[in-house]
Amino acid sequence: MPVVPYQTDCVLCSVATPIVWQDDAWRLVRTTQRGWPVYYQLILNDHVSEMTDLANGDRERCFQLMWHVESTVRDIFRPDKMNIASLGNMVPHLHWHFIGRYAWDPTFPGSFWQEEELRPLDESREALLLAAVENSDEAIASHLDGLQ
Ligand SMILES: [Zn+2]
Repeated sequence: MPVVPYQTDCVLCSVATPIVWQDDAWRLVRTTQRGWPVYYQLILNDHVSEMTDLANGDRERCFQLMWHVESTVRDIFRPDKMNIASLGNMVPHLHWHFIGRYAWDPTFPGSFWQEEELRPLDESREALLLAAVENSDEAIASHLDGLQ
């Protein structure tokens, strides 16, 4: 198991989230939130804030992982749309958000980050997805392990 250089003053590193997959440089965590059950973050282990701070090979590895996280999440959870974002305004530690969006989620087609909810949470649909999310770590990890 690689040693992750967690920083205790970093929100990304100090919040306990289930690690779905990891290698020496990256980790994928499940960050399910109420209303948005299909939510993962790909986090660089090193504390770097911008993509252009990465060496070319590391950037290519990042993109390879990103496309595979997206396709795996799409295959398993069939979202209406994938949202992928890297902001880092609050946490200067390089990470990418992968949010499976559904037409019934509270803010669709608006942003996950918008404050106004457009519709109430559909609890039965969310419960079905949550169960699938909690049972899919191994499938996602095995897909990412297959990349070299
Ligand atoms: Zn951190």
